[in-house]
Amino acid sequence: NDIVAFRHVSKIFNNGTVALDDFDLGIKEGEFITFLGPSGCGKSTALRMAAGLGEASSGEVTVFDNPPIETIRDTNDIAFVFQEPNLLPWRRVLDNVVLPLELRGTAKKEAKEEAKRVLEMVGLKDYIQSYPRELSGGMKMRVSIARALAAKPKLLLMDEPFAALDEMTRQSLQLELLQIWEQEKSTILFVTHNVFEAVFLSSRIAIMSAGPGRLSSIIDVDLPYP
Ligand code: ADP
Ligand code: ADP
Repeated sequence: NDIVAFRHVSKIFNNGTVALDDFDLGIKEGEFITFLGPSGCGKSTALRMAAGLGEASSGEVTVFDNPPIETIRDTNDIAFVFQEPNLLPWRRVLDNVVLPLELRGTAKKEAKEEAKRVLEMVGLKDYIQSYPRELSGGMKMRVSIARALAAKPKLLLMDEPFAALDEMTRQSLQLELLQIWEQEKSTILFVTHNVFEAVFLSSRIAIMSAGPGRLSSIIDVDLPYP
């Protein structure tokens, strides 16, 4: 049974741009699948649809067998990291990370401890009481990643989450992500244009190629691990 299913999905934007053309892919529980391809091939469009952002022009996207927007409304099992950090400006860094844990029913004390642990891991130990506006762009991204990882979601959607980070932070977060994937048996959809990142992280790679603003093929590569 597919956790996320793209069934013959096409997406044509109002200006006529064809971002996806008959995109057809099923994602099983526990997969770490990467959408790999050059800029403009439709990776973000596909991921955003799984996050309930944007309707298919034709075809269907489901998450846990329902329209994404319904699954997101009814469960707290999905977390996102987009290229923009989307933090709540009126909440301190710590409280931004605590929020999804509390929504999942974690006790306050435990939620705070876990949030602190993950924020320390992303190098923000000294900023937990800061407000997002006091942080740089890269630091805000780290908060956004910490928030997603701390929640240990069943499904994690990530769009180039490490693109803006320095090498050290990138590597430690990649390892943490792999650890969470193994421990929590999460399903992860990951978007990147970086071949090395895709090969290092994923259990399966869906290669998307750019035509004239159009998806022309998907190739699934089964890697020898896990
Ligand atoms: P990728 O994530 O692979 O870089 P995108 O999914 O962002 O690709 O974009 C796929 C194509 O759709 C590109 O040609 C892009 O310019 C176009 N596109 C994306 N969003 C919109 C939009 N809101 N309106 C019009 N065109 C868009
Ligand atoms: P990505 O870097 O993931 O390809 P972008 O940063 O290009 O995405 O897009 C950021 C936002 O702008 C998205 O909401 C996307 O839908 C929108 N967008 C992207 N390309 C276009 C476009 N050609 N016309 C209008 N909106 C676009």
